[in-house]
Amino acid sequence: MNLENQTALVTGGGRGIGKAISATLASAGAHVYLGGTNLETAEETAQAICDNGGKASPIQLDVSNKEDIQNAFDRIIGEAGRLDILVNNAGITKDGLMIRMKEEDWDRVLEVNLKGAFLCSQLAVKQMMKQKSGNIINISSIVGQAGNAGQANYTASKSALIGLTKTMAQEAAPRGIRVNAIAPGFIETDMTGGLNEKIREGLMGKIPLGKLGSSQDVADGVLFLASCRASYITGQVLNINGGMLM
Ligand code: NAP
Repeated sequence: MNLENQTALVTGGGRGIGKAISATLASAGAHVYLGGTNLETAEETAQAICDNGGKASPIQLDVSNKEDIQNAFDRIIGEAGRLDILVNNAGITKDGLMIRMKEEDWDRVLEVNLKGAFLCSQLAVKQMMKQKSGNIINISSIVGQAGNAGQANYTASKSALIGLTKTMAQEAAPRGIRVNAIAPGFIETDMTGGLNEKIREGLMGKIPLGKLGSSQDVADGVLFLASCRASYITGQVLNINGGMLM
């Protein structure tokens, strides 16, 4: 799964799942741009990848800020001349029961998780069409398929990402561009760090493989989908969930 001479952008690449994705794509030879609202975190992660012999550059990229997105793409295309892989990984939660959910919490989650992926993909597809090749991987979620009480905004954004993936895959396939989604189950990161013991125990009973996933589990799926080993796969959702949803 060699990605030598390829350029990748991972949104939210500085920490959590995005960090593992960035390191994994870099270890396969790609030059990875790590986007983040927190540039310091992205810088530290990029430095660690470079210290390990990989190629990585931090980049200021709040996916809810159109100017940031345009600047990031201008810089990447200016420096690297191409973009081969976009991983729409940036995501947030603002949980609450649907009937009590504040409109601003609904809007914010959709703005980052869904509109951010749409805007980044638009610029990526424009560039990839010129190249007649490219790969986009959207990080959805198991709850985008199954729903989850308390996450109306988050589940709506993650379901919609699957629809967006399939439409983009159909539109971009004739230009040699593949678009897929990954739907992780429950993965050990800051996002799930707040789950209390009772909820964790309840979850274990629902995961046939009996453990939460790791960021690396998701990163390995991204590497596969981004590689030529997946050259006949597009418009699909790869479930990485320990068997929690089959
Ligand atoms: P996390 O540890 O909370 O990290 C979130 C990432 O998103 C950070 O890198 C953060 O970067 C970035 N981010 C947040 N707001 C952003 C914005 N406005 N613009 C750009 N980047 C932004 O979460 P995670 O668990 O790694 O989740 C990564 C993705 O996997 C998300 O899309 C999440 O929905 C999805 N997912 C996670 C799980 C899970 O169990 N953890 C399960 C299914 C799906 P900065 O700190 O630089 O802002």
